[in-house]
Amino acid sequence: MITFGDYIKPKSIDEAFEVFKLKKNAAIIGGGCYLRMGNRRIGLAIDLCDAGLNFIDDNEDTIEIGAMTTLRELETSQILSDSFGTVVSDSVKHIIGVQLRNIATIGATVFSKYGFSDPITALLALDAELVLYNSGKIKLEEYLKEDSRRRDILEKIVLRKNIDGAAFQSMRNSQVDYAILNAAVSKKDGEYRIAVGARPRTGALAYKAMEYINSTEINEETAFKAGQIASQELVFGSNTRGSAEYRKELCKVMVKRAIMEVEA
Ligand SMILES: Cc1cc2nc3c(=O)[nH]c(=O)nc-3n(C[C@H](O)[C@H](O)[C@H](O)COP(=O)(O)OP(=O)(O)OC[C@H]3O[C@@H](n4cnc5c(N)ncnc54)[C@H](O)[C@@H]3O)c2cc1C
Repeated sequence: MITFGDYIKPKSIDEAFEVFKLKKNAAIIGGGCYLRMGNRRIGLAIDLCDAGLNFIDDNEDTIEIGAMTTLRELETSQILSDSFGTVVSDSVKHIIGVQLRNIATIGATVFSKYGFSDPITALLALDAELVLYNSGKIKLEEYLKEDSRRRDILEKIVLRKNIDGAAFQSMRNSQVDYAILNAAVSKKDGEYRIAVGARPRTGALAYKAMEYINSTEINEETAFKAGQIASQELVFGSNTRGSAEYRKELCKVMVKRAIMEVEA
């Protein structure tokens, strides 16, 4: 069971961080869905629900997504679908059910770098940038490579507009299970970005596969070759959902499918 000593709802992220930085046993609360499954005593729970971080802002060149935006809001956002098609929506629509997606927040998911995360893979393909309250801006690509957990609060996620296309693929044993593997591909100014996640490690870019596909014509054969390269360069692991070998095989097909979907 999870228990809280004190519980506060700051009115802004400034207020939240002021308290957070002073109290070692404080924890940030997003939707609380994941935290509640744990067994932990939190001295001070800092709930961000009133901190003004629930928004999807449509700017001239970018879209900004506040950390407290729920997965359901991402799934149904017209702003996101106008700019990126179904890639973001496809990356969250399989997560448990609408009730959970109405509560779980994108900020918690991204900040925590969950290995099973579906939206992280989509955001990585879209070259997302994070705004951390204390440390400032950092590319999601770089943030995911960091081993240590920062003592910070994720404020928002920034996506550049004007992509040519993007697609998300995932393989699950059942609709509501964690993905065995997921993959996302985007194309911007003719250049592809390929991300693979739930390996079961968190999403990562397949740099060699990107180099290959960006230097050749696109067809079923080259798309599959890109998948093969991705399956060789990335590290896969085994868990109850699938073996590393199975994930490697899935990677080839899912990367190919995502590239062909973008190309269609
Ligand atoms: C049963 C179940 C099944 C799931 N299945 C999937 C799945 O298949 N695919 C998938 O992608 N996801 C899945 N998820 C995860 C879900 O998508 C969310 O990632 C998860 O619930 C965290 O979101 P939350 O708002 O509930 O976070 P919380 O439980 O509130 O917080 C999680 C962690 O993030 C920290 N945190 C929260 N917000 C911030 C912030 N703004 N800045 C810094 N730290 C912060 C908290 O301190 C805590 O450590 C599942 C979750 C559950 C409960």
